Amino acid sequence: MNAERLRILVVEDDVVDQLAVRRVVRDAPLPYDLVVVSSVAEAANALASAQLDAIVTDFALGDGSALDVLSAAGDLPVIVVTGAGDQEKATSALKAGASDYLVKDARHGHLSALGGAIDRAIRMKAQDRRVKMLVHVLTHIGEAVSVCAPDGRMVFVNRAFCEMYGWTEREVLGKSLASVWPAGACSVYADGDDARSQGTVLATKDGRHLATGLTQSAVHDDAGKLIATVRIMRDVSERNRIERELRLANGALERSRAAFEELAIRDELTGLYNRRELSRRLEMETSRALRTLRPFSFLLLDVDHFKSVNDRYGHSAGDEVLRRVSLLIEGELRITDTAARYGGEEIAVILPDTSAEHATAVAQRLRERLEAEPIAIGSGAPITVTASFGVATLACDAASPQAVFAAADEALYEAKATGRNRVVTRVAMRKAA
Ligand code: GH3
Ligand code: MG
Ligand code: MG
Repeated sequence: MNAERLRILVVEDDVVDQLAVRRVVRDAPLPYDLVVVSSVAEAANALASAQLDAIVTDFALGDGSALDVLSAAGDLPVIVVTGAGDQEKATSALKAGASDYLVKDARHGHLSALGGAIDRAIRMKAQDRRVKMLVHVLTHIGEAVSVCAPDGRMVFVNRAFCEMYGWTEREVLGKSLASVWPAGACSVYADGDDARSQGTVLATKDGRHLATGLTQSAVHDDAGKLIATVRIMRDVSERNRIERELRLANGALERSRAAFEELAIRDELTGLYNRRELSRRLEMETSRALRTLRPFSFLLLDVDHFKSVNDRYGHSAGDEVLRRVSLLIEGELRITDTAARYGGEEIAVILPDTSAEHATAVAQRLRERLEAEPIAIGSGAPITVTASFGVATLACDAASPQAVFAAADEALYEAKATGRNRVVTRVAMRKAA
């Protein structure tokens, strides 16, 4: 029993009947505070000024009838009391929104049912309000909603559903999902790993294909019996489009990042690795050679009398010669070798896993090819260039890239000093401990 007291408006123009109601409420007792009035006009005043929970009204009133009270009652539950044999009046009251009616008898026996009728009416109104509110929410929610009965037929669709897919309620209610979307009008694609949430393409009534985020859940009653399957559909075509564009943009970004990284380690003129990358690789190769106890060789070449190439043919012809020399060298090397521009017309090559003997042979081959292939630039006579080579091989007990470099540099110096266009080889010295 509700411990709260209820405020009940009693509209009754017969004083004896008023007293009868008061007595029943007092004697039962019923937890009601009564506001008793005797006309439609007074009832309207009471409704305007007091917070009420329910109305009990006589049908026939001096200045109107229960129907007038009903139209002023708003959402309050109204119980109408009619005279015996006034079936028609009772029916008209129910049609006008009355929650219940009681048929008067001369000894006021009908009032014994008053408490029950009021409680029931209040309860039903509250439930009614709740259902209306929920239906309103479901109808107006932004996501499209469909509810299917256990036999698979649609029993509810909301406004967003109709707007999204173009069907009216009448066109889809009572139909199964499969008849609204036969195969071909519906396809499923994987969308994340949440099994309840799938990416689906559903056709609209006018044949457009709508990427739909579909969530569905089976709803059971308290006994565990399936009562409905609820589906919530979202138009995800915009989201998909944005994701697609993001993926494309990411790809482009990744490609330009890779291109930038490549640029950062290359020499602009020749396309060979630059000096910084050479240092990094020389460092790496030294520690690898020390770790694996396998030798590697390092080759430093300097174009002979390059200054006179510039002087004779111009600086840009000099540039072109450097590019062609670089191309020729790269073409002769293995993929694991590193050719880098050390400075002006000096090129360095790292030859991993290569003994002094083999490295010397490589240098000789490069030297011979350079000498043998004059470089044609424009319409002028081809330019023959030669280069001097210093070769150094890291002995496994030598400790640093600097030692290797210094040995190659010394060898190169010797090659220059002893006539140019030649190869001189050194083994890198072990650094004094
Ligand atoms: P050596 O046989 O003793 O090596 O004589 P060399 O003339 O080659 O040596 P030197 O060091 O006297 O001159 C190198 C020249 O290379 C001078 C410089 O202007 C030129 N040079 C350096 N970098 C570039 C470049 O990027 N482009 C061009 N065209 N010339 C360059
Ligand atoms: Mg030089
Ligand atoms: Mg030179």
